[in-house]
Amino acid sequence: MFNDLREEIRLLNSDVNNVVSSKKAKELRKKLLIIGGVLTAVGLIGAIACFVSFVLIAVNSVNNFSAGSGFPTLILIPFFLLIPFSVVASIGSKLLKLGLSIVITGYTSNLIEETVWGKCPNCGDKITKEELFCNKCGQKLKSKCPECNYINEITDNYCVKCGHKL
Ligand SMILES: [Zn+2]
Ligand SMILES: [Zn+2]
Repeated sequence: MFNDLREEIRLLNSDVNNVVSSKKAKELRKKLLIIGGVLTAVGLIGAIACFVSFVLIAVNSVNNFSAGSGFPTLILIPFFLLIPFSVVASIGSKLLKLGLSIVITGYTSNLIEETVWGKCPNCGDKITKEELFCNKCGQKLKSKCPECNYINEITDNYCVKCGHKL
């Protein structure tokens, strides 16, 4: 399970400039931090509770032992529960670590937002300044000025370079 996650994170991190993967990375990071945090907290609290009750029972039984009662079998419960709680805590901390290893993509997605130029007049998809055609619907986004060959936006009525009517 950890290897699959690690591989997924590696792929996401290597492609963080991609809008889709940066969104995915953010979601995965959030999920890992929440699940990892809960598991770590539960595991740690459980382990501490086990340890405390183990000590309490031990102290108690030392007093009772002299009074003639036998081995306190109750002490085995916290003793053996300590193991699963520690496992849960260590899984949780591993998930937390994996979550933190995901590159924070807020910065790059802000950069992506800045390069967004406008919306496709046909389908409304976000387009960048460089796109000649909409990558969603194939709508032509630029028109060449017949006078000076300058590449204008398809929505421009006049060439921004020479003023020729398009
Ligand atoms: Zn479009
Ligand atoms: Zn022109």
